[in-house]
Amino acid sequence: MKELWLRKGEDRRLRAGHLWVFGNEADVRKSPLGDFAPGEEALIRDARGHALGSAFVNPHSLICARIYSSRPGESLDGNLLRRRLKTALALRERCFDVPYYRLCHGEGDMLPGLVIDRFGDHLTIQIGTAGMEARKDTLREELRSLLGPTSILWDNDLASRGLEGLTRENEMEGDAPEELDVPENGCRFFAPCRSGQKTGWFYDQRRNRAEAARYARGANVLDIFSYAGGFGGTAARAGAASVAFIDASQTAVDYAVRNAARNAPRLADAGAVTGLCGDAFERMEQLYAEGRRFDLVCLDPPAFIKRRKDFEQGKAAYRKANALAVRLLEPGGVFVSCSCSHHLPAETLRGLVALAAARNNRQGRILHAGGQPEDHPVHCAMPETAYLKCFIARMDQDEPRE
Ligand code: SAH
Repeated sequence: MKELWLRKGEDRRLRAGHLWVFGNEADVRKSPLGDFAPGEEALIRDARGHALGSAFVNPHSLICARIYSSRPGESLDGNLLRRRLKTALALRERCFDVPYYRLCHGEGDMLPGLVIDRFGDHLTIQIGTAGMEARKDTLREELRSLLGPTSILWDNDLASRGLEGLTRENEMEGDAPEELDVPENGCRFFAPCRSGQKTGWFYDQRRNRAEAARYARGANVLDIFSYAGGFGGTAARAGAASVAFIDASQTAVDYAVRNAARNAPRLADAGAVTGLCGDAFERMEQLYAEGRRFDLVCLDPPAFIKRRKDFEQGKAAYRKANALAVRLLEPGGVFVSCSCSHHLPAETLRGLVALAAARNNRQGRILHAGGQPEDHPVHCAMPETAYLKCFIARMDQDEPRE
């Protein structure tokens, strides 16, 4: 196995358990990155020659090596893949009764750049690194013998693949279902399986949806950026009086309405399920102008901050969305505010919720602070594997100031 040497002092983060080597940390005089093929294995050494683990290299990426094993000289072959997948599976089987979950969460499961969502016999797989891409055939074999899936969607339409020099064309293998049917929190949700634009289900909000639904009984609920209606559908089943969904995608809105009806037929029969397709910011303004108010408002925007340099602009979008959403709450209503942007710290999101409350003359009190569930494990040495935040807050009307 080739060796990748680090520059002096650049081993500290790795010694604390982190798994990434950045290009500027490599000693390129001793071990030129250009000598490595994308995905090639390397033994990582610090400047004094101590071995730190085994990694795969991508000379074209900002993250030039990703450690997959703390054992020096270990290959990422079928054997190791099987061990890692079995460990990941054992954790999920310990937590879930049915095979519907994220089976592998990349670095959080010690498989850098590999994400697998399991929907019974169907798997949706995202490969975000050249190292994993190079092992795709072995991975397929190991998954076949471990789980025997009937179909696999290689969901390759990821921006991160571009950074690793990989193609972005989706591929389907086997006989995939027309749509997914996902059991969650006692509900059932249909979701698109192979539509070009959006595939799958956001398992990461499972627990936050259940938390939010605790405030749903008798409530008029608004689910903003609803996708297939995970929050609103769960609330509908928990006894909401009405549910409205907002999403920019008509397909998403159609799924959301259908899912709410499926989980709360009486609500649908009473005409209390509505879908609004359009820009969420505009729709929120419109609902406010129409005098519509809600008892439970869930706000789960797409990642407004994808790269660090988008921070200020993205934060402004979160600020605006939170303020518009809180304005739609009845006094004493409950607000659910989420962010899936890794670059937005939980403390900053809490600040934006507080600001939205103050701007609308509310006293906000946090009832729940959530993050990722157990099938999206955060590697404790890698803050990069944490991204999801969810605050649930009750918003009481301030007494008017004298
Ligand atoms: N809350 C969902 C996940 C939301 S994903 C769940 O629990 O599963 C983000 C959603 O925001 C996507 O469905 C996307 O179509 C939608 N979206 C993105 N930009 C939007 C905009 N400007 N207005 C409305 N919806 C938007």
